[in-house]
Amino acid sequence: MSPKELISRLQKAFEIRDEEFIALKASKTKNPFEVLVATVLSQNTTDKNSFRALNNLKKIYKITPEALAKADVKEIEQAIRPAGLYRQKARVIKELAVNLTNGKLNKILSMDGESAREVLKSLRGVGPKTADVVLLMTANYPTFPVDTHVMRVSKRLGLVPEDANYEEARRFLMEFFSPEDYLKGHLLLIKLGRTYCKARNPKCESCPLSDICPKIGVRE
Ligand code: SF4
Repeated sequence: MSPKELISRLQKAFEIRDEEFIALKASKTKNPFEVLVATVLSQNTTDKNSFRALNNLKKIYKITPEALAKADVKEIEQAIRPAGLYRQKARVIKELAVNLTNGKLNKILSMDGESAREVLKSLRGVGPKTADVVLLMTANYPTFPVDTHVMRVSKRLGLVPEDANYEEARRFLMEFFSPEDYLKGHLLLIKLGRTYCKARNPKCESCPLSDICPKIGVRE
């Protein structure tokens, strides 16, 4: 199946229109720092827990480097408790805020893509996936973040070799999809992973890609 067909089939299955991807990107571009904080919160937890943590934090602080640089780290910890690893994540968020005041994040995002990726990855608590999410969502840098869902689904579908590490999986996916489809591809593979292609007992019988999947019937 071609990458375009795969995207079109998943968009149809999940009833997501092109305009929804455009609107999402526009909303994320408005506050790159919030995307960064949300991605840190999402590490090693479910979406539900990281959304709760972000919403709690929003109730007491504006999600800007300036506001969080002055925040009490204990208050950040309490707000983000639902996300787990809350002490570690609170320290990371506070340090990122201190390091990114005065428009520094926007300056990083205006660099050429690979340089921006390297600078982001050099910040404590920012790994390649977090850097790629921020770059894909908020800048015009074509990259393909590989989260746990994307990695699992891509391997099952045969888009990525079974033993691929993060950088290898990213490279395979960037070669498979066209740059203008990276955002769609990333979000649709996550949706497929959450809805059908779960880690255990995937719902192959109702999966929209069951007719082309080499791993149909896999149990875990
Ligand atoms: S057929 Fe099963 S293993 Fe293949 S993508 Fe669908 S849910 Fe995943």
